[in-house]
Amino acid sequence: MSIEMVDTVIVGGGLSGLYAASLLALKNESFVVLEARDRLGGRILSPEFQGFFSDLGPSWYWPDIHPRMARLIQELGLKGYRQFEEGRGRFQNPGGTVQTVRGYATEPLSWRLVGGMIALISELCAGLPEKAVRLHHPVCNIEKKDAGALVSVGQLEEEPEAQFEAKKVILALPPRLTASTILFNPELPADLTQAMLKIGTWMAGQAKFYVLYEEPFWHRAGLSGQAFSQRGPMAELHDGSNQNRAPYGLTGFVGIPAVQRGNQDLLIEAILEQLTQIYGAPAAQPAKIFYKDWACEPFTATRLDQPPMYEHPLYSPPAHQTSFWNETIHFAGTETASQHGGYLEGALSAAERAVG
Ligand SMILES: Cc1cc2nc3c(=O)[nH]c(=O)nc-3n(C[C@H](O)[C@H](O)[C@H](O)COP(=O)(O)OP(=O)(O)OC[C@H]3O[C@@H](n4cnc5c(N)ncnc54)[C@H](O)[C@@H]3O)c2cc1C
Repeated sequence: MSIEMVDTVIVGGGLSGLYAASLLALKNESFVVLEARDRLGGRILSPEFQGFFSDLGPSWYWPDIHPRMARLIQELGLKGYRQFEEGRGRFQNPGGTVQTVRGYATEPLSWRLVGGMIALISELCAGLPEKAVRLHHPVCNIEKKDAGALVSVGQLEEEPEAQFEAKKVILALPPRLTASTILFNPELPADLTQAMLKIGTWMAGQAKFYVLYEEPFWHRAGLSGQAFSQRGPMAELHDGSNQNRAPYGLTGFVGIPAVQRGNQDLLIEAILEQLTQIYGAPAAQPAKIFYKDWACEPFTATRLDQPPMYEHPLYSPPAHQTSFWNETIHFAGTETASQHGGYLEGALSAAERAVG
């Protein structure tokens, strides 16, 4: 097997990795993006139904406080629209009783992307050189060389399926996943590995659903689609529609910890039952249901990510190191951003830092 030579290997084809790739492309440097999955986007996932893209990962961006996202969306020629929040909300108590409550507008204002968040990924990818992105390329081993690193793709302890030699490597995946799944030779110092393992991957333990309907029956009842439940299985619901166009969506998060979620079909049944309790009989007749349990995704979550995270961590590069091996390997990925870490904005700023 021949070894491919490039200036930079980017590990991970999520937003951070692809944004880093787009910045390297501007510098006319050779690079490859190695992506383990059979698709790009990582935590961004927006399956299509009747021309509508349901965001099962991130839905929102906040242009008032996330300038890089606002700029990138504009540069890529994409369009956003305000989260629908008109009307009253619903609240379900632990006994299952539902009452109508005052609605509220989020502050700062939340925006969604026409074409779903995946539009960001498709547009970034469209601007990259042909063959720069390799799917089905899980990186399993990174070895230090005199002037760079040798990156191996495949399964640990098996013959590599592909190898790349690069002057620089950008790790655009969660640090906890890196420390759990990639071998480094020589071994990384124990304090750096520990620091990487301690950085929780944002939203990795979550499960999200998206239910689509032909009619916005909740709008007609003066409801915004916003609901909170102390009974579950869903804890938090929002409208997930693109203005006044079918299909109309209700979307939200499951409030049950990953280890207790159990059988997916039963959970979806319980979600529909709860939607009917909150919004009435029409909620029992969806046109489509999408559900994603991120805790079951080996290229997002590890065993350490199964317990729920109740607070947004204050992220920063592991052990305050943005690189190692004499600046051969650089951390990107949203969990290494010192500002807006965990968010899409953090994925962009970490990529900028790594490329810079
Ligand atoms: C349910 C949910 C809701 C969210 N809501 C929001 C929101 O509304 N707004 C917001 O700003 N943020 C939100 N987020 C967070 C947002 O999704 C992340 O900040 C962002 O997508 C992270 O991008 P990333 O490129 O850093 O990481 P990732 O998207 O995780 O990308 C890492 C990539 O590396 C790949 N990979 C993993 N291991 C390997 C390997 N060994 N070799 C090669 N490739 C590998 C993965 O497959 C993946 O493609 C949400 C996340 C989830 C899950």
